[in-house]
Amino acid sequence: MTIKAAPVRINSRESAEALIDRYDNFLFDCDGVIWLDEKAIPGVLRTIEYLNAKGKKYVFVTNNSSKSRQDYVSKFAKMGFKGITKDKVYPTCYAAVAALKDNYKIEPGAKVWVLGDSGIEQELIEEGYIPLGGTDERLNVAFNPNDEILKVDPEVKAVIVGSTKEFNYTRIASTLQYLLYNNKSIPFIGANIDRTYPGPEGLILPAGGSVVNYMHYTSSREFLNVGKPSTVFLDSILSHNGFDRSKTLMVGDTLYTDIKFGNDGLLGDGSGSLLVLSGGTKLPDLNHLIQNPHSFEDGESLIPSFFIESLATLTEWL
Ligand SMILES: [Mg+2]
Repeated sequence: MTIKAAPVRINSRESAEALIDRYDNFLFDCDGVIWLDEKAIPGVLRTIEYLNAKGKKYVFVTNNSSKSRQDYVSKFAKMGFKGITKDKVYPTCYAAVAALKDNYKIEPGAKVWVLGDSGIEQELIEEGYIPLGGTDERLNVAFNPNDEILKVDPEVKAVIVGSTKEFNYTRIASTLQYLLYNNKSIPFIGANIDRTYPGPEGLILPAGGSVVNYMHYTSSREFLNVGKPSTVFLDSILSHNGFDRSKTLMVGDTLYTDIKFGNDGLLGDGSGSLLVLSGGTKLPDLNHLIQNPHSFEDGESLIPSFFIESLATLTEWL
């Protein structure tokens, strides 16, 4: 087997220029790359504007399912990013709703149970589905075994689980009823597998994958992961945008989602992944991986082609 070359550090004007010249299209993760929760990472806006001036194409691909595409458009605008339209943003709430149609052939009009935030509900409504659960206020109460909400609606055709900060026993107990119903026959879609995400104030916070895996464990069921590193998700983004795989770079801060997404998808002819150190992965983490790839599951696929301090650093020399 071939041992993957060590990643190249982008640390000079020459290496930054060469990187930007090599790629026409960029896929950007958001948390830890563009922002930390509600705060933009300083200097990132300048890099995006530089890419605009160069005529480069880009979209944003986030495993965070809490916000709909429309919510992300507003968030980008509020932070001063110009021209970010709905078709440039791919959150996994959108991918989960696409999977209803593409993977399970569930027609619009069907009811779908949600454990997650309003992003999933909004994307469902936009495609003509009827969300149940989710942000329903009846789920915000202390657990009561006689609660009506614990009774399964037999018309529900799928369950989508994603990130939420409103994780309580009533929500997980009601979701479990759907996952167990009728011999566990209702499809179970997970919006992501992220354990944590980088929050403000240097905090590492629990991410949606922890919610999904909680439900996986308690129901003893596998789920369809529609988020990064799913190559199905990548292929649909490339085809929607007409991006040439060999001229596309994935930029992210998480090895087992973002970097694996770019590597497994053979972006840039096998060298299309750029790790930024502005989020959850720090230089010692990367060094540990490079020195011990076999102590990680599928470790070779986690090694980025390139790494850099932050997306802002990319244009500091230009
Ligand atoms: Mg991230």
